[in-house]
Amino acid sequence: MGFFRTYAANPLRAHMSSKTMKSPRQVLSCVLIFLAASLARAAAADSVAFVDVTVLPMDSERVLAHQTVLVTGYRIVQVGPTATVKIPANARRIDGVGKFLIPGLGEMHGHNPPLGSSQAYIEQIYFLFVANGVTTVRGMLGWPGQLELRDQVKAGTITGPSLYLAGPSFTGNGANAVLSPVAAEQRVRQQKAEGWDLLKVHPGLKLEVYDAMAKTADEVGIRFAGHVPAAVGLVHTIERRQQTIDHLDGYIEYLGAEESPVDPAKLATIVKLTRDTGTAVVPTMPLWETIIGAADLEKLLAYPELRYMPAKEVARWKSVYERRTSDPKFSKSRALQIAANRQTVLKALADGGVTILFGTDAPQEFSVPGFSIHREMKSNVAAGLTPYEVLRSATKNVGEYFKTKDTFGLVAPGHRADLVLLDANPFTDISNVDKRAGVMLRGRWLPESEIQAGLAKIAAAHVVAK
Ligand SMILES: [Zn+2]
Repeated sequence: MGFFRTYAANPLRAHMSSKTMKSPRQVLSCVLIFLAASLARAAAADSVAFVDVTVLPMDSERVLAHQTVLVTGYRIVQVGPTATVKIPANARRIDGVGKFLIPGLGEMHGHNPPLGSSQAYIEQIYFLFVANGVTTVRGMLGWPGQLELRDQVKAGTITGPSLYLAGPSFTGNGANAVLSPVAAEQRVRQQKAEGWDLLKVHPGLKLEVYDAMAKTADEVGIRFAGHVPAAVGLVHTIERRQQTIDHLDGYIEYLGAEESPVDPAKLATIVKLTRDTGTAVVPTMPLWETIIGAADLEKLLAYPELRYMPAKEVARWKSVYERRTSDPKFSKSRALQIAANRQTVLKALADGGVTILFGTDAPQEFSVPGFSIHREMKSNVAAGLTPYEVLRSATKNVGEYFKTKDTFGLVAPGHRADLVLLDANPFTDISNVDKRAGVMLRGRWLPESEIQAGLAKIAAAHVVAK
């Protein structure tokens, strides 16, 4: 009854004669036929083939020459020798001769611009990531409205890296501090219900608050990651299965290595514990050198990529750095000792079989989204990691971390079509990651010419804004 009343009340439908009216089943089958036809059209039209390219699939340290990689929609559908892969007639062909194809890169400690940023600014930041081959970002500080951004990126209404987002911080400081176990439990349940991908741990949490957060997280099925609160300590965060320890937070303190070289026996113990519990680390090396004052301000201010950030923001970074290093308690030699020890720690963690997840904490003091990855990669290699290990931390390891969310991180059939085409082999020199021919973002091809045009527009906008 209700159905017919509504039907008749609909003026568009009410004027239809009974002869032209179709049964719901007929309507459904028409819709399905139409959908299937348009999907098939879209699939064929959306096919892209990288023809005769050298593939670094990143499942191991192998290099496959003369491959053709076929993408349909937003998935890789086939990877095989160029002689055997059949390319659909209307597929777009990208010449891969002399080029190297790697999976899109992950930024495992990234950020959305702060709450209240304009949509235009948010989209600029996303573009800076993508322009450098960053196709996935784990956002490490939530604020209301971010989940909608994640969904808009997924739906393709905004161009940006795939986002996986930590909720608003579990911090012991400031107006949003979590001060009691009850409050922690409540916040975990709320963030799980709201749909955040993980919880963010910040400094200042009391031990019992941290434990209540961890217990509730286990109960509701959400992971927590980030800093090591001083009252909790490195060993407890590891034993409590914090999923990632970002910035190598807590290691230098645990090792007592602020003023002196690292004790190898103590280092071996903590490396083993980190590996045995499956805890991953996100190093963020150059960012931390800035944060502790080990970096050289003149060099930071000379970064060419600063032109892609608002001048006001760069001025703020400069003044924060100056304030920190002009503190009477600041010691440059101590900062340099810590920086050197952090390299020792990173190398030991990598050699000890700990999962390294690539991250740079962008946008953040002198860590410009996307551009910061090239500095991080070189720094990781300087610490003793091989280019393959560094790339694995940004591809395969990221895909494995998010394996319950989607399939990506390798150049392999079924994987999300996030790819970077390079003019030179990054296994022989990590700086070749910056020699791009283009980026594919969820099946959408952005040739380098388009990327450069987009970057020029952003730089020009900041010049005008000055
Ligand atoms: Zn951060």
